[in-house]
Amino acid sequence: MGAERKAGQRGLLVVISSPSGGGKTTVVKRILDSGDDRFVYSVSATTRPPRPGEKDGRDYFFLSDEEFRRRIQEGAFAEWAEVHGHLYGTLKDQIDRNLKAGKIILLDIDVKGGLSLKRAFPEDSLLIFLAPPSLEVLEKRLRQRGTDSEEEINRRLQRVKMELDAAKQYDTVIVNEDLDTTVREVLEAIERRLLERSTSG
Ligand code: 5GP
Repeated sequence: MGAERKAGQRGLLVVISSPSGGGKTTVVKRILDSGDDRFVYSVSATTRPPRPGEKDGRDYFFLSDEEFRRRIQEGAFAEWAEVHGHLYGTLKDQIDRNLKAGKIILLDIDVKGGLSLKRAFPEDSLLIFLAPPSLEVLEKRLRQRGTDSEEEINRRLQRVKMELDAAKQYDTVIVNEDLDTTVREVLEAIERRLLERSTSG
């Protein structure tokens, strides 16, 4: 813990995980678009090809498999995981810089990545899991998104059990039924955490 990590100046890692189609990307976007400049987004690296409309450096850093593995060797990642057959990782640079600047860093990462960050930053992380109202709703959302093949959709659904299990170790579970309510609950959980941390010294 360096001298810059005094109460009030410390940043916070806010991990938001959910099964694919659970709505986390929309929730994160809403918070970032709110105009509150305490929030920043941690742009991950991935070997998954870009979806239509996704931009390199904004949504992800899109890397080749070879480049991603080279970055692992260099120690560039705070955590990385294989998700749905592709590699994804949080760049140390994205979080170190923003933690020092006292920012609230939003991370849209999977449950394994979330639990790794909790181990690495026990006091400066908040793990939020957005649960779908039901598995049927989740499946419907995935199909409506229309960006994934049938095979990809089935692969994502199979992962849900492991995700719900890992969510037991998360700090907060929010059932994502209504977007406005979910955004409000996420913001409340963050404020509660900041307050707790500032009063616990
Ligand atoms: P998608 O391909 O739909 O953008 O993301 C697939 C999954 O990978 C999502 O659950 C997303 O949260 C997760 N993911 C994205 N970036 C990272 C990362 O840097 N680390 C980990 N562990 N998971 C990530």
